[in-house]
Amino acid sequence: MVSFNCHVCGDVVKKPKLDQHGARCHGGFDCIDCSKTFNSPAEWKGHTSCISEAEKYQKTLYKGPQVR
Ligand SMILES: [Zn+2]
Ligand SMILES: [Zn+2]
Repeated sequence: MVSFNCHVCGDVVKKPKLDQHGARCHGGFDCIDCSKTFNSPAEWKGHTSCISEAEKYQKTLYKGPQVR
């Protein structure tokens, strides 16, 4: 399950709740795993699966430990 960070209130929101939450906060979201920014429902709807575990691992090696 992909989780997102609300730009407005900072809440962590799961994919199925994004539309509902976006309607309330009127803001965009960042994907927690890949740090991509999504500013509209059309954008986050396309993000049904995130980077693979391997990519995440390489990214962690490259950039150092991520702050969660
Ligand atoms: Zn919010
Ligand atoms: Zn992602």
